[in-house]
Amino acid sequence: AKEGGRGRCEYFAPWLGERNRRLVSIEQALRDALRRGELCLHWQPRVDIEGWQVVSAEALLRWRHPELGHISPAEFIPVAEKCGVIGEIGAWVLTQACIEAQALLTGLSVSVNVSPVQLMRPTMLDDVRRALQASGLAPHRLEVEITEGIFIDDTPEALANLHALKDLGVQIALDDFGTGYSSLAYLRRFPFDTMKIDRAFMRELLNQHDARAIVRTIVDLAKVLGMRTVAEGVEEPAQLEILRRAGCQDMQGYLVARPMPVAELHDLMAHWHLH
Ligand code: C2E
Ligand code: CA
Ligand code: CA
Ligand code: CA
Repeated sequence: AKEGGRGRCEYFAPWLGERNRRLVSIEQALRDALRRGELCLHWQPRVDIEGWQVVSAEALLRWRHPELGHISPAEFIPVAEKCGVIGEIGAWVLTQACIEAQALLTGLSVSVNVSPVQLMRPTMLDDVRRALQASGLAPHRLEVEITEGIFIDDTPEALANLHALKDLGVQIALDDFGTGYSSLAYLRRFPFDTMKIDRAFMRELLNQHDARAIVRTIVDLAKVLGMRTVAEGVEEPAQLEILRRAGCQDMQGYLVARPMPVAELHDLMAHWHLH
């Protein structure tokens, strides 16, 4: 085994499986990724279902490693969380997203995914303040997306940071709603502005009748609580129609657009009225 630094999990051992060896190389490469400029953001537009306008865009992290190729955030974010690099990466994403949006996404709100681990860090609030300052983006244009799972081990730090973000004027979205536990309890305890209905429901919508009833119930519940609803992963016109009838306000998904570089989204918006 190779000696790792403090708090690291670096091992090259023959008993590690293929998957673990990949995770170790990802971890080591991640530490350099920022410095080498291998990270960038892609943007996916959020569209309001009634007016068919782009109302905001979600920043999604992309990493292209020279040897490992494209690595999905679903794979490397958990590694970054475990090994402590998430703080640096998260701060970079916040600043980069705000700068790109302020420069090219006039009039749109900006959604940034924030890892539960990042949310618990004492520097979280400073990271957000710095991003707003560096970009000049108005706080109300920034929305932070938090996955539902976080509150399972709800820490006072995470809660305090959420409230402090709200005090700054930043919007808070609950990501992946419907996939975690005790969803209803969370909703009552935290001041979310937006609820994102998980993509898992979209698949069900087409073949399972009770899925429609469930989505309708989720939308109604969000309304009662004063939250805006966003459906994630909408791919089919039939899904959109069901969501419209359920009263869901916004949607994201391949039906409208895949995540793309900021310049492409800028162009898409310039020609939006022609769509
Ligand atoms: P998420 O926040 O739930 O993001 C939505 C994911 O669904 C994105 O995958 C997006 O590309 C994909 N998607 C959007 N529309 C569709 C669709 O119509 N069909 C299908 N099949 N997929 C669709 P992506 O970009 O690979 O990101 C995966 C996850 O990684 C995200 O899930 C989020 O949890 C995490 N992530 C991405 N960027 C960041 C980041 O900057 N910071 C943190 N902490 N997490 C991030
Ligand atoms: Ca998200
Ligand atoms: Ca999501
Ligand atoms: Ca997700």
